[in-house]
Amino acid sequence: MTTLQNILTNEQRFPSTEIDKVIRLLSSPCEIVITTHHRPDGDAMGSSLGLYNYLIKKGHKVQVITPSEYPDFLFWLPGNNKVLNYENSQIESEKLIQQADIIFCLDFNWIKRVEEMESSLRNSTSKKILIDHHLDPEKSFDIIFSYSEACSTCELIYDFIIALNDLNFIDKSIAECLYCGIMTDTNSFRFSSMKAQTHRIIANLIDFGAENYKIHELVYDNSSESKNRLLGYALFKKLVVINEFNTAYIFLTEKELIEFGFKSGDTEGIVNYALGMKGIRLAAFFSEREGIVKISFRSKNDFSVKELSSKYFGGGGHKNASGGYSTESLDETVKKFLKILPSYKEQLKS
Ligand code: 5GP
Ligand code: MN
Repeated sequence: MTTLQNILTNEQRFPSTEIDKVIRLLSSPCEIVITTHHRPDGDAMGSSLGLYNYLIKKGHKVQVITPSEYPDFLFWLPGNNKVLNYENSQIESEKLIQQADIIFCLDFNWIKRVEEMESSLRNSTSKKILIDHHLDPEKSFDIIFSYSEACSTCELIYDFIIALNDLNFIDKSIAECLYCGIMTDTNSFRFSSMKAQTHRIIANLIDFGAENYKIHELVYDNSSESKNRLLGYALFKKLVVINEFNTAYIFLTEKELIEFGFKSGDTEGIVNYALGMKGIRLAAFFSEREGIVKISFRSKNDFSVKELSSKYFGGGGHKNASGGYSTESLDETVKKFLKILPSYKEQLKS
């Protein structure tokens, strides 16, 4: 059971010493860039656009820049039409990053997670403020609000707005963005990171105008026919179950993705079908794109996929949901995974 002691209060997450620095920085209208990790998900875009809608309401000039494209089931988010994708607008993005007074870095812990934007972000002399919920943030931000027990960055943005004493600024647009990120990062409010306090935040967001049923439909009932057929194929033909290690994995080649007319977001959630099987404690999903194998890991209970993905696959994330990558072939990557499983046998069987 969660005790009240291990839920951080707003003052603990956003201590007045640090919040006062933010208040000083925001005391007059300034130029702000908000950015997030490569291949942004619902929490990355929800937190970026939630903060965007708040900061423009406060009178600042704000630009959200994503390092890459993101799934179209997030395009309904209020403010989405103002987002710049670095891949398509490199020169304009670089200029904005260099001239910004403040850069908010949301939903990532290491600057390398913005991939091609890394050197631009590192070289910028703007004040960098990190708000995130991944473990072990790097130190090269000017102000860090990093709490790995938070279910999502959206939950932290809600707390951040409260810490700035601006609860009355939260409107329908901000509420819908934050609702979306909390919903997607907790797999619809079901992970252990979803505390009673987070349910209270969700209730408040509904009071502020977030239409919960509409957001669920926009995100989850929006699959294309090809996405569903890809899922069917993955489960029928490409799911491997290793009962000896309570493990299941799915792997898709680039050729298969192309055959199914793959687009960004189409493979999101596939890994959960592997994890959703009775007795399975570890699930992995491997997909090959442009010479890189992207891996999603999920686990149940105490088994830490964060440890596994950072030790062997250059990745990280959270205890029960992590990602990584490999530059070896898909075959070699899966072989490597199978080779390391025996070293986790005891944990996976216990
Ligand atoms: P997903 O499997 O949904 O892509 O990612 C699950 C979690 O792992 C997310 O919190 C995400 O930020 C993190 N993650 C995914 N890929 C990587 C990666 O390559 N490196 C790190 N450090 N974290 C990742
Ligand atoms: Mn997140």
